[in-house]
Amino acid sequence: MNATKKIHNFSAGPSILSSYAINKSMEDIQNFAGTGLSILEISHRSAEFEAVMEECRLLVKSILNLSDDYDILFLQGGASTQFYQIPMNFLKTKGVYTQTGTWASKAIEEAQAYGEVIIAASSKSKNFNFIPTDYSIDPSADYFHCTSNNTIFGTQMQSFPETNIPLICDMSSDIFSRKIDANKFQMIYAGAQKNMGPAGVTLAIVHKDIYNRKADRHIPTMLDYQIHAKNGSMYNTPPVFPILVSKYNLEWVRDNGGLNGMEIRNTEKANLLYNAIDSSEYFEGTTEVSSRSFMNVCFVFKQETPELVSKFEAACLDANISGIKGHRSVGGYRASLYNALPIDSVQALVDVMMNFDK
Ligand SMILES: *Cc1c(COP(=O)(O)O)cnc(C)c1O
Repeated sequence: MNATKKIHNFSAGPSILSSYAINKSMEDIQNFAGTGLSILEISHRSAEFEAVMEECRLLVKSILNLSDDYDILFLQGGASTQFYQIPMNFLKTKGVYTQTGTWASKAIEEAQAYGEVIIAASSKSKNFNFIPTDYSIDPSADYFHCTSNNTIFGTQMQSFPETNIPLICDMSSDIFSRKIDANKFQMIYAGAQKNMGPAGVTLAIVHKDIYNRKADRHIPTMLDYQIHAKNGSMYNTPPVFPILVSKYNLEWVRDNGGLNGMEIRNTEKANLLYNAIDSSEYFEGTTEVSSRSFMNVCFVFKQETPELVSKFEAACLDANISGIKGHRSVGGYRASLYNALPIDSVQALVDVMMNFDK
């Protein structure tokens, strides 16, 4: 039932999902869990959907190997809502942030409305082409916030700093893509539409200890993590369908080796593409090599001309390559290699680049 023409989907988000998740979801649109009803028309309070919610929660927990100290919440409003929900809940006097890209900058801007924001490190002056590693974190701050993978600029944190204050991370574009020690974090959040599922649900993983650090201000009910935790992410109507699709996609992650399997798969894809870029006569990467993202690979023409651009883009179109236009703030090209993207798709892009060199 899938499109007959095979498209190599390099979209940065919403992005490629496993065909397993798409096919299972299609079945549930027609007849969900044998109810004779569509998942699109069933109550979120039905036993069948409650089971989906619980399975999805358990998949997140087991894939990330999280302890029982965490609440796993399925929220709405995207990662962008987390940019202000986090400081609203936890910023009492000051928060420490790293400014490593557009999303990190937006998180900083939102936090500034709630208190002092210390920018411990920034790569802004170099158009965010590297990940700063040499900085210190004020131990008296309320929390430290970072972005693990900078989707637009194609840089990724290779390690996380040690700190005594709560570690909070936006993992929207690399969650479930590599091995991490998730129990190091007091909070992890991610919009689903890159590596977890479709648009419409936001994952928030919250360590229960952080509730003791709540700021003394009025928090609207819908923005209070504890309310969502107490109600099992069903305080109001949750995004039923995105949670279902995410559940299937996480089953696919689990069945393909979990974080370890994803890391092997994604490393292989990224190496294939970066090697092609590095050996190309026409293309070059845009970031420092040590900061390269294994999820979003950004590259440009060494010397761009309108002829080269139209030739390359026509060749990509011809090879059914979709979604590689770079973000306007970087230009050039960006190939997103999220979990579900098969290595054959990367090979198809590499073939176009190699032919180009000839
Ligand atoms: C896409 C993205 C966001 C924004 O997510 P929304 O769900 O659209 O709000 C935030 N942070 C990162 C790292 C992203 O890649």
